[in-house]
Amino acid sequence: MHAIVIGGGVAGTVSAIALRRQGAEVTLFEAHPDPGGEVGSFVSLAVNGLRGLAAIDCLERVRAVGMPIARLRMWSAKGHVIADVPRGRRAADPMRSITLMRGHLVAELRVAAEEAGVRLVTGERLTAVDSRGTAHFASGRCATGDLLVGADGIRSVVRGALDPAAPTPRYAGVWVISGRSRAADAGGGTFNMTVGAHGAFVHVIPPDGGEIWWQAQVNAPNPPADDTGDRLTRLDTLFAAEPIPRQIIAATTHLHRHSVNQVLAPVRVWHNAHTVLVGDAAHPVGAGQGASMAIEDGVALGAAIGAAATVRDGLAAYEAARRDRVTRVLRASDDNREVKQAGPLRRRVTEVGMSLFFARFYERATGWLYDYEPVPR
Ligand SMILES: Cc1cc2nc3c(=O)[nH]c(=O)nc-3n(C[C@H](O)[C@H](O)[C@H](O)COP(=O)(O)OP(=O)(O)OC[C@H]3O[C@@H](n4cnc5c(N)ncnc54)[C@H](O)[C@@H]3O)c2cc1C
Repeated sequence: MHAIVIGGGVAGTVSAIALRRQGAEVTLFEAHPDPGGEVGSFVSLAVNGLRGLAAIDCLERVRAVGMPIARLRMWSAKGHVIADVPRGRRAADPMRSITLMRGHLVAELRVAAEEAGVRLVTGERLTAVDSRGTAHFASGRCATGDLLVGADGIRSVVRGALDPAAPTPRYAGVWVISGRSRAADAGGGTFNMTVGAHGAFVHVIPPDGGEIWWQAQVNAPNPPADDTGDRLTRLDTLFAAEPIPRQIIAATTHLHRHSVNQVLAPVRVWHNAHTVLVGDAAHPVGAGQGASMAIEDGVALGAAIGAAATVRDGLAAYEAARRDRVTRVLRASDDNREVKQAGPLRRRVTEVGMSLFFARFYERATGWLYDYEPVPR
């Protein structure tokens, strides 16, 4: 069987490796000449995503470029700890969530894909898929296989080819900017979140207490027009009332370009007889699960194709395995977004509720998310 994979991000590389391990010949087409390198900022891989990487023997190499971040701390806007819990794992689970640069994750997975025998073609942008499942690229090139995997992200071309009525992304009311700040002398190995008046502020302190990685998620009816201007002054003003973000922003040593968050209405059609969507192309999720869900998808796709008599049966089995879980994660991600965009009263109520929730129910309430096995043992 020959599989054509469109998109060399997390979903595409993991799908390619998983399909290759089932004996498929795989060619992966990526639009950019080099999708790795310093593109984007940091992402987190939760234990469910790490279990997916273990299933395709990529866990150790990805761990080697990430930082284990064992604890999650939630802060009130005024700077008080409202929760401090093990991050996305049960106390007995030896797995630890990791945080790493998105570019390093993708670069590692690309190397692993090539080592597994995937043929990687960069600089080829898909423009259309015809009714027989043939992929057409901007260069004039065409590619046909037995299976076409759309791993081409939130602005997926494959999604529109599968269903002309498929939703298109829209601005989520949040723009994002990330940076790095001078070292913290305490709190190493923590993922921290403060929800303030103008949005959420995440900061990650490495285990050795080195440079802090941070991200401001700013609520705004319209995204900023460009990436110029004094962005730090703007952030200083927005987070002036919240002591923790204010101090970290003031110690900034490096700023990444801003980006805007987008949302997508539920995607009804995930596959036909020969074409399937994986990762953000099918279901962009927030709540720190984007990369982990992309990994789960790729591993589940490989397993479903490997176990089925035909591609058509394999794709039906893939959707049956993934649809309910993805729907549940999307719901959790919507709730998360609402909390971050809440007004002052709701925010205060949430802070009080959160401290109770994290103290009493967190581990039990999140078991369904973190204990998942992408390929049942
Ligand atoms: C440049 C970039 C930077 C990012 N930075 C962050 C970040 O800092 N933090 C974070 O949490 N998430 C980030 N993300 C999103 C995150 O990587 C995804 O939410 C998650 O990993 C799911 O991955 P995915 O493979 O489904 O989609 P994506 O990561 O979006 O990957 C899709 C891939 O398909 C390629 N592609 C798109 N269209 C075509 C086409 N027509 N033809 C061929 N190839 C195509 C893209 O170049 C990309 O490599 C970023 C995504 C991108 C593309």
